[in-house]
Amino acid sequence: MQLDICEIFYSLQGESTFTGLPCIFIRLSGCNLNCAWCDTRYAGMESTRMTFDQILKKTASYQCHLVEVTGGEPLLQDNTPELISMLLEENYQVLLETNGSRSIKDVDSGCIKIVDIKCPSSNEQNSFLLENINFLTQKDEIKFVIGSQKDYKFATSFIKHKLSKFSAANIHLSPVFGQIRSATLAAWMIEDHLPARLSLQQHKVIWHPDKRGV
Ligand code: SF4
Repeated sequence: MQLDICEIFYSLQGESTFTGLPCIFIRLSGCNLNCAWCDTRYAGMESTRMTFDQILKKTASYQCHLVEVTGGEPLLQDNTPELISMLLEENYQVLLETNGSRSIKDVDSGCIKIVDIKCPSSNEQNSFLLENINFLTQKDEIKFVIGSQKDYKFATSFIKHKLSKFSAANIHLSPVFGQIRSATLAAWMIEDHLPARLSLQQHKVIWHPDKRGV
């Protein structure tokens, strides 16, 4: 079996409850969305066809227990759920970062899914596949990237009406880097007693915001 891979690298996890932990990233090629603030457009252009064997060998070389499958949009490729299952069989802890527009139904329940719900300023507001809510478990995580007050209002309404059964610890609000101040978002969340977590993109705080492979 094969997949189109943009890059595989080893760094620190930057935007979930796993933030700060050493992690291997398998970035798959291709994306079906065009978010206004996208910071990984290269994932749509760079691609190397790799067999599962090649991917597993490269992954093993980093000697790390945590792997994140990301993109682009990793669920655009039919073989991605199979790769996730194989990584779990190899005893990795596996995270999947997805933009929320593709069904997560066939993803192994042992994988922790980090699912985006796109807000208005992304220009992809209607991309979230609503039925995905039925396939999320309490260990999965949901992320809203906030670029404006309109986005914040969208997220608060969505959390109130559709995510009330999820733990606040697993719902992330993340400010668009360089577009909205984290202090502004923090103030709104405190004022509203919002049941969610403020998440900063740690890798953009540590390294240059445009640096790749981190
Ligand atoms: S879903 Fe992710 S990779 Fe695709 S355009 Fe949006 S931010 Fe970029």
